Amino acid sequence: MEVVKRGFLRACKNHSYLSYELIDKILGPLCARHKVPIPSSKEAIKAIVSEINDTISDLGQSLVFIKYPIKSEEYLVYAKTDATPDNVANTGLSPDDCQYFSKLLDKIASEEDCHIPWNAAYNELGLQSTSKPLKKSRMQELLQIWTQMGYFMELDERIYLGPRSLVELSFYLASNHGEHIKNCMLCKCLVLWDIRCGSCNIQFHRECISTYLQRRDICPSCGNLWTTPLRRSTSQSS
Ligand SMILES: [Zn+2]
Ligand SMILES: [Zn+2]
Repeated sequence: MEVVKRGFLRACKNHSYLSYELIDKILGPLCARHKVPIPSSKEAIKAIVSEINDTISDLGQSLVFIKYPIKSEEYLVYAKTDATPDNVANTGLSPDDCQYFSKLLDKIASEEDCHIPWNAAYNELGLQSTSKPLKKSRMQELLQIWTQMGYFMELDERIYLGPRSLVELSFYLASNHGEHIKNCMLCKCLVLWDIRCGSCNIQFHRECISTYLQRRDICPSCGNLWTTPLRRSTSQSS
């Protein structure tokens, strides 16, 4: 099993963020090759991930499951625990490249719903270039790399904060962009693009508020009757 866990961790590092579909595609053959049982449920996968986390927390790494409403998916994200916008994704990058990452992250995070039109990723970022300004082709190249790494997500010609940013940079985002990026009152984890109270507009994770509303019918924040419909999710998860 240890060799399977090591192999799976390596795959998580390479992919940065993984859907359950991808996890199955990786774990299936890996377990078969090493003749160990293939985990048959989400709980079994979570148990393996938790065992891996026990061995890597000292190395400043962790694997974190996060719900990502933009794609209606849950992802497993590979994260470094000491990440800041200045040191993520910086292997082999110039200071100008790194500055581009920070500026882009801040620009998206300062929008109310944390997304921008794709072309805004190249304009009006106020990059103070010390040497030559970044070429647009270089910006596109970087954005593509960072999107593959899960720091940003492109959908319908817009660029969103990606699942890895939400995990690795959650402290930075909530401290520096607290006007739009807040933690869910119920689970204390970052919440974005999710369900809002009709009275006070505070945001919760759909699952958190659904569980809460099984026992009460008021908003935990403002105390008014909860009126926003809890859309049923298509997958019978949880
Ligand atoms: Zn929550
Ligand atoms: Zn409320």
